[in-house]
Amino acid sequence: MKPLSILHVDMDAFYVEVERQIDPSLVGKPVVVGGRSDRGVVASASYEARALGVRSAMSSVVAKNLCPDAVFVKSNFSRYRKISKRVHEIFNAVTPLVEPIALDEAFLDIGGAHKLFGSSEEIAWQLRNDIYEEVGLDCSVGVASSKLLAKLASVAAKPMATPQGVKPGSGVFVVHAGIESSFLQNHPVEALWGVGSVTLKKLRSIGIKTVGDLAQTSEDVVVAALGASHGRHLHGLSKGLDGRAVNAKRERKSISHEETFEFDVFDRSSLESEIIRLADAVSTRARSQGLAGRTVQIKVRRPDMSFVTKSLTLEEPIDTLSEIADNATALLAELDLRGGVRLLGLGITKLGPPGPRQLTLDSLGERSPSSGSVSNALDNIREKFGQAAIGPGFPKKRAEIDES
Ligand SMILES: [Mg+2]
Repeated sequence: MKPLSILHVDMDAFYVEVERQIDPSLVGKPVVVGGRSDRGVVASASYEARALGVRSAMSSVVAKNLCPDAVFVKSNFSRYRKISKRVHEIFNAVTPLVEPIALDEAFLDIGGAHKLFGSSEEIAWQLRNDIYEEVGLDCSVGVASSKLLAKLASVAAKPMATPQGVKPGSGVFVVHAGIESSFLQNHPVEALWGVGSVTLKKLRSIGIKTVGDLAQTSEDVVVAALGASHGRHLHGLSKGLDGRAVNAKRERKSISHEETFEFDVFDRSSLESEIIRLADAVSTRARSQGLAGRTVQIKVRRPDMSFVTKSLTLEEPIDTLSEIADNATALLAELDLRGGVRLLGLGITKLGPPGPRQLTLDSLGERSPSSGSVSNALDNIREKFGQAAIGPGFPKKRAEIDES
Protein backbone atom coordinates (compact mmCIF):
# COMPACT_ATOMS: atom_id res chain seq x y z
CA MET A 1 0.00 0.00 0.00
CA LYS A 2 1.29 3.43 -0.95
CA PRO A 3 1.93 5.54 2.15
CA LEU A 4 0.13 8.85 2.51
CA SER A 5 3.30 10.85 2.39
CA ILE A 6 2.18 14.09 0.77
CA LEU A 7 0.73 17.05 2.61
CA HIS A 8 -0.63 20.20 1.04
CA VAL A 9 -0.80 23.05 3.53
CA ASP A 10 -2.69 26.20 2.64
CA MET A 11 -3.40 29.15 4.94
CA ASP A 12 -7.08 30.14 5.11
CA ALA A 13 -7.76 33.56 3.50
CA PHE A 14 -4.18 34.43 4.39
CA TYR A 15 -3.92 38.12 3.53
CA VAL A 16 -7.34 38.87 5.00
CA GLU A 17 -6.57 37.11 8.27
CA VAL A 18 -3.25 38.93 8.58
CA GLU A 19 -5.08 42.23 8.13
CA ARG A 20 -7.59 41.20 10.79
CA GLN A 21 -4.76 40.66 13.24
CA ILE A 22 -3.65 44.23 12.61
CA ASP A 23 -7.20 45.61 12.76
CA PRO A 24 -9.54 43.37 14.76
CA SER A 25 -12.54 45.51 13.82
CA LEU A 26 -12.41 43.69 10.47
CA VAL A 27 -13.32 40.38 12.09
CA GLY A 28 -16.70 39.10 10.91
CA LYS A 29 -16.99 41.70 8.16
CA PRO A 30 -16.71 41.09 4.43
CA VAL A 31 -13.12 42.14 3.75
CA VAL A 32 -11.31 42.52 0.46
CA VAL A 33 -7.54 42.93 0.32
CA GLY A 34 -6.73 44.81 -2.85
CA GLY A 35 -7.02 48.12 -4.62
CA ARG A 36 -10.27 50.01 -4.31
CA SER A 37 -9.84 51.98 -7.53
CA ASP A 38 -11.46 51.24 -10.89
CA ARG A 39 -8.34 49.38 -11.96
CA GLY A 40 -7.95 47.58 -8.65
CA VAL A 41 -8.03 43.84 -8.30
CA VAL A 42 -9.05 41.57 -5.44
CA ALA A 43 -5.93 39.93 -4.03
CA SER A 44 -7.83 38.04 -1.36
CA ALA A 45 -11.39 38.03 -0.06
CA SER A 46 -12.72 36.97 3.32
CA TYR A 47 -15.15 34.07 3.41
CA GLU A 48 -17.95 36.57 4.17
CA ALA A 49 -17.21 38.32 0.88
CA ARG A 50 -16.81 35.02 -0.95
CA ALA A 51 -20.32 34.05 0.17
CA LEU A 52 -21.54 36.88 -2.07
CA GLY A 53 -19.45 35.73 -5.00
CA VAL A 54 -16.30 37.83 -4.53
CA ARG A 55 -13.19 35.97 -5.70
CA SER A 56 -9.50 36.70 -5.88
CA ALA A 57 -8.29 38.20 -9.18
CA MET A 58 -11.72 39.72 -9.75
CA SER A 59 -11.79 43.40 -10.56
CA SER A 60 -12.62 45.55 -7.55
CA VAL A 61 -15.48 47.16 -9.45
CA VAL A 62 -17.19 43.81 -9.85
CA ALA A 63 -16.44 42.96 -6.22
CA LYS A 64 -18.05 46.20 -5.05
CA ASN A 65 -21.16 45.45 -7.06
CA LEU A 66 -21.46 41.98 -5.60
CA CYS A 67 -20.67 43.10 -2.08
CA PRO A 68 -21.32 46.82 -1.51
CA ASP A 69 -20.50 46.49 2.21
CA ALA A 70 -17.05 45.09 1.57
CA VAL A 71 -14.26 46.80 3.49
CA PHE A 72 -11.26 47.30 1.18
CA VAL A 73 -7.81 47.05 2.74
CA LYS A 74 -4.54 47.81 0.99
CA SER A 75 -2.22 44.83 0.65
CA ASN A 76 0.92 44.69 2.74
CA PHE A 77 3.23 42.18 1.13
CA SER A 78 6.28 42.73 3.29
CA ARG A 79 4.18 41.75 6.28
CA TYR A 80 2.74 38.69 4.51
CA ARG A 81 6.28 37.63 3.60
CA LYS A 82 7.51 37.87 7.18
CA ILE A 83 4.70 35.65 8.41
CA SER A 84 5.19 33.31 5.47
CA LYS A 85 8.79 32.87 6.45
CA ARG A 86 7.84 31.79 9.97
CA VAL A 87 5.29 29.33 8.57
CA HIS A 88 7.87 27.88 6.18
CA GLU A 89 10.30 27.43 9.06
CA ILE A 90 7.70 25.21 10.71
CA PHE A 91 7.45 23.16 7.51
CA ASN A 92 11.21 22.80 7.35
CA ALA A 93 11.35 21.58 10.92
CA VAL A 94 9.21 18.61 9.91
CA THR A 95 10.87 17.67 6.63
CA PRO A 96 13.54 19.02 4.27
CA LEU A 97 11.27 18.06 1.35
CA VAL A 98 9.20 21.23 1.12
CA GLU A 99 8.00 22.68 -2.17
CA PRO A 100 6.75 26.22 -1.66
CA ILE A 101 3.94 27.09 -4.05
CA ALA A 102 3.00 30.52 -2.77
CA LEU A 103 3.49 32.66 0.30
CA ASP A 104 0.76 30.72 2.06
CA GLU A 105 0.95 27.33 0.43
CA ALA A 106 3.36 24.40 0.16
CA PHE A 107 3.64 20.69 -0.51
CA LEU A 108 5.51 18.60 2.04
CA ASP A 109 6.80 15.08 1.56
CA ILE A 110 6.70 13.56 5.03
CA GLY A 111 7.70 10.06 3.96
CA GLY A 112 10.79 10.23 6.18
CA ALA A 113 9.22 12.01 9.13
CA HIS A 114 6.99 9.34 10.65
CA LYS A 115 9.51 7.95 13.11
CA LEU A 116 10.00 11.34 14.67
CA PHE A 117 6.55 12.82 14.35
CA GLY A 118 3.99 10.02 14.00
CA SER A 119 1.40 9.19 11.39
CA SER A 120 0.58 11.42 8.45
CA GLU A 121 -2.64 12.52 10.08
CA GLU A 122 -0.88 13.28 13.36
CA ILE A 123 1.72 15.34 11.53
CA ALA A 124 -1.03 17.26 9.75
CA TRP A 125 -2.77 18.18 13.01
CA GLN A 126 0.52 19.01 14.67
CA LEU A 127 1.48 21.35 11.83
CA ARG A 128 -1.87 23.04 12.04
CA ASN A 129 -1.46 23.55 15.78
CA ASP A 130 2.16 24.70 15.48
CA ILE A 131 1.27 27.25 12.83
CA TYR A 132 -1.60 28.56 14.93
CA GLU A 133 0.65 28.84 18.00
CA GLU A 134 3.41 30.56 16.03
CA VAL A 135 1.46 33.06 13.95
CA GLY A 136 -2.14 32.86 15.24
CA LEU A 137 -3.57 31.89 11.87
CA ASP A 138 -5.54 28.90 10.62
CA CYS A 139 -4.57 26.70 7.73
CA SER A 140 -6.06 23.68 6.03
CA VAL A 141 -4.08 20.53 5.44
CA GLY A 142 -4.71 17.87 2.82
CA VAL A 143 -3.14 14.45 3.36
CA ALA A 144 -2.90 11.98 0.50
CA SER A 145 -0.67 9.75 -1.59
CA SER A 146 -0.09 12.32 -4.34
CA LYS A 147 0.17 16.04 -4.89
CA LEU A 148 -3.06 16.21 -6.87
CA LEU A 149 -5.05 14.45 -4.18
CA ALA A 150 -3.39 16.37 -1.35
CA LYS A 151 -4.20 19.69 -3.02
CA LEU A 152 -7.85 18.76 -3.50
CA ALA A 153 -7.94 17.42 0.05
CA SER A 154 -6.80 20.74 1.51
CA VAL A 155 -9.64 22.41 -0.38
CA ALA A 156 -12.02 19.87 1.14
CA ALA A 157 -10.68 20.79 4.60
CA LYS A 158 -11.33 24.52 4.18
CA PRO A 159 -14.02 26.70 5.68
CA MET A 160 -16.86 27.30 3.27
CA ALA A 161 -18.63 30.48 2.37
CA THR A 162 -22.39 29.91 2.35
CA PRO A 163 -25.27 32.36 2.11
CA GLN A 164 -26.00 31.48 5.76
CA GLY A 165 -22.50 32.40 6.85
CA VAL A 166 -19.07 30.90 7.13
CA LYS A 167 -19.12 27.16 7.74
CA PRO A 168 -15.96 26.02 9.52
CA GLY A 169 -13.89 23.41 7.72
CA SER A 170 -12.49 20.21 9.14
CA GLY A 171 -8.97 21.67 9.14
CA VAL A 172 -7.41 18.40 8.04
CA PHE A 173 -8.75 16.11 5.33
CA VAL A 174 -7.23 12.71 4.65
CA VAL A 175 -7.70 10.85 1.37
CA HIS A 176 -7.17 7.36 2.72
CA ALA A 177 -5.81 4.57 0.55
CA GLY A 178 -8.67 2.99 -1.33
CA ILE A 179 -10.94 6.04 -1.46
CA GLU A 180 -8.91 7.96 -4.06
CA SER A 181 -11.33 7.34 -6.94
CA SER A 182 -14.48 7.98 -4.98
CA PHE A 183 -12.95 11.18 -3.59
CA LEU A 184 -11.91 12.33 -7.05
CA GLN A 185 -14.92 11.42 -9.11
CA ASN A 186 -17.35 14.12 -8.02
CA HIS A 187 -14.90 16.95 -8.58
CA PRO A 188 -15.52 19.01 -11.70
CA VAL A 189 -13.00 18.04 -14.35
CA GLU A 190 -11.43 21.52 -14.23
CA ALA A 191 -10.18 20.67 -10.74
CA LEU A 192 -7.43 18.69 -12.49
CA TRP A 193 -4.23 20.55 -13.25
CA GLY A 194 -3.87 21.17 -16.94
CA VAL A 195 -7.56 21.66 -17.66
CA GLY A 196 -7.84 25.22 -18.93
CA SER A 197 -10.70 26.76 -20.82
CA VAL A 198 -9.83 25.16 -24.18
CA THR A 199 -9.40 21.68 -22.76
CA LEU A 200 -12.55 22.10 -20.71
CA LYS A 201 -14.52 22.95 -23.85
CA LYS A 202 -13.20 19.89 -25.65
CA LEU A 203 -13.98 17.63 -22.70
CA ARG A 204 -17.49 19.03 -22.36
CA SER A 205 -18.06 18.48 -26.07
CA ILE A 206 -17.59 14.75 -25.51
CA GLY A 207 -19.86 14.78 -22.47
CA ILE A 208 -17.22 14.92 -19.74
CA LYS A 209 -18.07 17.18 -16.81
CA THR A 210 -16.60 15.49 -13.77
CA VAL A 211 -13.35 13.73 -12.98
CA GLY A 212 -15.43 10.56 -12.68
CA ASP A 213 -16.77 11.05 -16.23
CA LEU A 214 -13.21 11.34 -17.46
CA ALA A 215 -12.04 8.26 -15.58
CA GLN A 216 -14.88 6.23 -17.07
CA THR A 217 -14.23 7.36 -20.63
CA SER A 218 -11.86 5.17 -22.59
CA GLU A 219 -8.39 6.59 -22.99
CA ASP A 220 -8.69 6.36 -26.79
CA VAL A 221 -11.64 8.71 -26.78
CA VAL A 222 -9.83 11.19 -24.55
CA VAL A 223 -6.70 10.99 -26.69
CA ALA A 224 -8.77 11.59 -29.83
CA ALA A 225 -10.16 14.75 -28.26
CA LEU A 226 -7.02 16.13 -26.62
CA GLY A 227 -4.05 14.58 -28.38
CA ALA A 228 -1.85 11.77 -27.12
CA SER A 229 0.29 13.33 -24.42
CA HIS A 230 -2.25 15.67 -22.86
CA GLY A 231 -5.02 13.09 -23.19
CA ARG A 232 -3.06 10.30 -21.54
CA HIS A 233 -1.82 12.59 -18.80
CA LEU A 234 -5.29 13.84 -17.86
CA HIS A 235 -6.82 10.41 -18.12
CA GLY A 236 -4.20 9.15 -15.70
CA LEU A 237 -4.83 12.04 -13.31
CA SER A 238 -8.55 11.28 -13.34
CA LYS A 239 -7.70 7.86 -11.95
CA GLY A 240 -5.52 9.38 -9.29
CA LEU A 241 -2.27 8.57 -11.09
CA ASP A 242 -0.02 11.49 -10.26
CA GLY A 243 3.58 10.53 -9.77
CA ARG A 244 5.05 13.99 -9.42
CA ALA A 245 7.44 14.30 -6.52
CA VAL A 246 7.57 17.15 -4.08
CA ASN A 247 10.24 19.37 -5.60
CA ALA A 248 12.51 20.46 -2.82
CA LYS A 249 15.42 22.72 -3.67
CA ARG A 250 18.04 20.17 -4.54
CA GLU A 251 15.96 18.85 -7.42
CA ARG A 252 15.17 22.19 -8.92
CA LYS A 253 16.41 23.14 -12.36
CA SER A 254 14.14 26.07 -12.89
CA ILE A 255 11.51 28.04 -11.06
CA SER A 256 8.68 29.30 -13.17
CA HIS A 257 5.14 30.40 -13.09
CA GLU A 258 2.66 30.90 -15.88
CA GLU A 259 -0.83 32.13 -16.37
CA THR A 260 -3.39 31.24 -19.01
CA PHE A 261 -5.80 34.11 -19.47
CA GLU A 262 -9.48 33.57 -19.75
CA PHE A 263 -9.55 36.03 -22.64
CA ASP A 264 -6.68 36.87 -24.94
CA VAL A 265 -4.84 39.94 -23.72
CA PHE A 266 -3.85 42.66 -26.16
CA ASP A 267 -2.93 45.41 -23.76
CA ARG A 268 0.80 45.64 -23.07
CA SER A 269 0.41 47.35 -19.71
CA SER A 270 -1.81 44.52 -18.50
CA LEU A 271 0.91 42.10 -19.49
CA GLU A 272 3.49 44.15 -17.63
CA SER A 273 1.30 43.97 -14.55
CA GLU A 274 1.10 40.25 -14.97
CA ILE A 275 4.90 40.14 -15.17
CA ILE A 276 5.01 41.69 -11.70
CA ARG A 277 2.69 39.06 -10.32
CA LEU A 278 4.62 36.24 -11.92
CA ALA A 279 7.93 37.72 -10.76
CA ASP A 280 6.51 37.94 -7.26
CA ALA A 281 5.61 34.26 -7.32
CA VAL A 282 8.94 33.23 -8.84
CA SER A 283 11.05 35.33 -6.49
CA THR A 284 9.12 34.14 -3.46
CA ARG A 285 9.71 30.53 -4.38
CA ALA A 286 13.34 31.12 -5.27
CA ARG A 287 14.15 32.89 -2.03
CA SER A 288 12.24 30.49 0.16
CA GLN A 289 14.49 27.78 -1.27
CA GLY A 290 17.66 29.84 -0.98
CA LEU A 291 18.06 29.96 -4.75
CA ALA A 292 18.74 32.60 -7.37
CA GLY A 293 18.89 32.31 -11.15
CA ARG A 294 21.21 33.76 -13.77
CA THR A 295 18.85 33.26 -16.70
CA VAL A 296 15.47 34.93 -16.95
CA GLN A 297 13.04 33.52 -19.47
CA ILE A 298 9.60 34.51 -20.62
CA LYS A 299 7.17 32.42 -22.62
CA VAL A 300 4.29 33.78 -24.63
CA ARG A 301 1.61 31.63 -26.19
CA ARG A 302 -0.46 33.33 -28.85
CA PRO A 303 -4.16 32.83 -29.56
CA ASP A 304 -3.27 30.47 -32.45
CA MET A 305 -1.35 28.34 -29.88
CA SER A 306 2.06 29.11 -31.38
CA PHE A 307 4.53 30.19 -28.76
CA VAL A 308 7.75 32.04 -28.41
CA THR A 309 10.28 32.13 -25.59
CA LYS A 310 12.91 34.73 -24.93
CA SER A 311 15.68 34.66 -22.40
CA LEU A 312 18.72 36.52 -21.21
CA THR A 313 21.58 35.44 -19.00
CA LEU A 314 23.16 37.73 -16.44
CA GLU A 315 26.59 37.86 -14.83
CA GLU A 316 25.17 37.51 -11.34
CA PRO A 317 22.29 35.37 -10.10
CA ILE A 318 19.15 37.29 -9.14
CA ASP A 319 16.23 36.47 -6.88
CA THR A 320 14.37 39.68 -6.11
CA LEU A 321 11.01 40.63 -7.50
CA SER A 322 12.32 43.87 -8.94
CA GLU A 323 15.32 42.35 -10.71
CA ILE A 324 13.32 39.48 -12.18
CA ALA A 325 10.47 41.78 -13.22
CA ASP A 326 12.81 44.35 -14.78
CA ASN A 327 14.56 41.76 -16.92
CA ALA A 328 11.35 40.01 -17.89
CA THR A 329 9.76 43.33 -18.85
CA ALA A 330 12.77 44.10 -21.03
CA LEU A 331 12.33 40.73 -22.75
CA LEU A 332 8.63 41.34 -23.24
CA ALA A 333 9.40 44.68 -24.86
CA GLU A 334 11.22 42.85 -27.64
CA LEU A 335 8.18 40.85 -28.68
CA ASP A 336 5.49 41.80 -31.14
CA LEU A 337 2.30 41.21 -29.18
CA ARG A 338 -0.23 42.71 -31.54
CA GLY A 339 -1.86 39.34 -32.18
CA GLY A 340 -2.74 38.99 -28.51
CA VAL A 341 -1.48 36.77 -25.72
CA ARG A 342 -3.15 33.66 -24.46
CA LEU A 343 -0.59 32.57 -21.90
CA LEU A 344 2.31 34.32 -20.24
CA GLY A 345 5.06 32.48 -18.41
CA LEU A 346 8.10 33.67 -16.49
CA GLY A 347 10.93 31.65 -15.06
CA ILE A 348 14.50 31.67 -13.86
CA THR A 349 17.05 28.95 -14.62
CA LYS A 350 20.79 28.38 -14.10
CA LEU A 351 19.96 28.17 -10.43
CA GLY A 352 22.41 28.42 -7.62
CA PRO A 353 22.91 30.16 -4.32
CA PRO A 354 22.29 33.91 -4.32
CA GLY A 355 25.33 36.12 -4.86
CA PRO A 356 27.52 37.04 -1.86
CA ARG A 357 26.04 40.52 -1.57
CA GLN A 358 22.73 38.95 -0.62
CA LEU A 359 23.85 36.35 1.86
CA THR A 360 23.50 38.47 4.94
CA LEU A 361 19.97 39.49 4.13
CA ASP A 362 16.71 37.99 5.15
CA SER A 363 16.00 35.01 2.92
CA LEU A 364 12.34 35.81 2.43
CA GLY A 365 12.21 39.55 2.96
CA GLU A 366 12.02 41.82 -0.03
CA ARG A 367 15.46 43.03 -1.05
CA SER A 368 16.43 45.69 -3.41
CA PRO A 369 20.13 46.42 -3.13
CA SER A 370 20.00 48.92 -5.98
CA SER A 371 17.34 51.02 -4.32
CA GLY A 372 19.14 50.88 -1.00
CA SER A 373 16.08 49.86 0.92
CA VAL A 374 14.99 46.44 1.96
CA SER A 375 11.28 46.99 1.96
CA ASN A 376 10.79 49.43 -0.86
CA ALA A 377 11.15 47.15 -3.82
CA LEU A 378 7.45 46.51 -4.22
CA ASP A 379 6.67 50.16 -3.85
CA ASN A 380 9.32 50.97 -6.43
CA ILE A 381 7.72 48.55 -8.83
CA ARG A 382 4.32 50.06 -8.22
CA GLU A 383 5.72 53.50 -8.77
CA LYS A 384 7.34 52.40 -11.98
CA PHE A 385 4.48 50.41 -13.40
CA GLY A 386 1.51 52.12 -11.78
CA GLN A 387 -0.94 51.05 -9.13
CA ALA A 388 -2.28 48.27 -11.30
CA ALA A 389 1.01 46.49 -10.77
CA ILE A 390 -0.46 45.00 -7.63
CA GLY A 391 -2.72 42.92 -9.80
CA PRO A 392 -3.83 42.86 -13.41
CA GLY A 393 -7.19 44.24 -14.39
CA PHE A 394 -8.37 41.38 -16.54
CA PRO A 395 -10.10 38.11 -15.81
CA LYS A 396 -7.92 35.11 -15.23
CA LYS A 397 -8.55 31.45 -15.02
CA ARG A 398 -6.87 31.15 -11.69
CA ALA A 399 -5.33 33.55 -9.27
CA GLU A 400 -2.00 32.27 -8.17
CA ILE A 401 -1.68 34.42 -5.11
CA ASP A 402 -4.38 33.66 -2.60
CA GLU A 403 -7.33 31.77 -3.87
CA SER A 404 -8.08 29.79 -0.77
MG1 LIG B 1 -4.52 30.16 0.98
